[in-house]
Amino acid sequence: MNALLLLRSQLGTAFALGVVLLSAIALAALRLSFPAEVPGLELLLFGWLGVALGRLTIGGRLSDSGAAKGSPGAAEKVDHILRSVARLLQMHLTETDAFSERLRGASDRLAEHETSEPVNEIVMALIDDNRQMRDKLSNLRDQLEESRLRVLQLQYNLERSEEEGMRDVVTAVGNRRFFETAFAEELEKARTSGQDFCLALADLDRFKLVNDRFGHLVGDGLLRLFAEILVQNVRGQDRVARFGGEEFAVMLPGAGLSEAVEAAERIRRVLESKQWTVEPSGERVGKITVSFGVAKLRADETGADLLRRVDGHLYDAKARGRNRVVAERPEDVPPVSRRTRSRRAASV
Ligand code: GH3
Ligand code: MG
Ligand code: MG
Repeated sequence: MNALLLLRSQLGTAFALGVVLLSAIALAALRLSFPAEVPGLELLLFGWLGVALGRLTIGGRLSDSGAAKGSPGAAEKVDHILRSVARLLQMHLTETDAFSERLRGASDRLAEHETSEPVNEIVMALIDDNRQMRDKLSNLRDQLEESRLRVLQLQYNLERSEEEGMRDVVTAVGNRRFFETAFAEELEKARTSGQDFCLALADLDRFKLVNDRFGHLVGDGLLRLFAEILVQNVRGQDRVARFGGEEFAVMLPGAGLSEAVEAAERIRRVLESKQWTVEPSGERVGKITVSFGVAKLRADETGADLLRRVDGHLYDAKARGRNRVVAERPEDVPPVSRRTRSRRAASV
């Protein structure tokens, strides 16, 4: 298993499949001559196979974190390959049994002839070799099953740690790393589908004062509660992430600007309506407010451009007194949208 981890690199899939192929060819050869001539070579081949499968699992999984939901996971792929190899071994064992039976039959027939003594000895030696090979293969099959279970366990651990690495420990929503991945995915989806995509950035107002007056633990509690309000007030397809500090991002795929502004307004009002107290002392914190910047993705705009515009609107919200949602005005949106442009292109 250490070897699997050590060989975690990017070359991955092609190499792994190559080695699987080599191993399969070697397996066929092994049936004919390996046990007597090169003892232990099959173990080496299966070692390579194990390493290659490990590379396939780990490398694939890491580079593949944004893979579309519904496509088979790396664990399933590895499991499938390992099962195939186990089946191959089982088939080989069955064939070896049949071969043993035929040899034994030949030996019995030879024993009926007085002059067949030397040939009979050779056949007996072959039977013995065959039995040894059978035992080794059986052993290999057990090792393979054990490797399969270990690979699955490793895969499970990796998935869990990867998930944990994307979660903010204070608020339990996605962290900045999650945001980067999810934002790139959503931009790609919006570009290929032509659907609207909006981004909202929320920044708690005067949060430094809260920390200064009530301490960081109270501040942390408020961040957690605000994250809950965010999650409870967006649609299922929306994605919430802690962008950094007391700032949160909401990605709204398929939402037009007015829907995104509405969602931000709803959240702003919910937060504004609450009066907070510190438990168990009952010390009064009072009202906390939030400012939002919102914008809709434009044609041929990069994620960084969109982020810059949203940030600009958030800055305006702060400058205009806080506790408000600022979005681009309809007249700010360029007149030729991506869809009208492509419709024109299609009609030329
Ligand atoms: P503004 O309305 O202009 O946004 O004012 P602000 O005080 O919220 O903004 P500023 O950028 O001056 O301060 C942000 C504060 O957020 C400072 C820091 O103490 C607090 N903060 C950032 N991350 C955390 C955190 O993880 N926990 C706690 N408790 N506070 C945090
Ligand atoms: Mg801030
Ligand atoms: Mg702030």
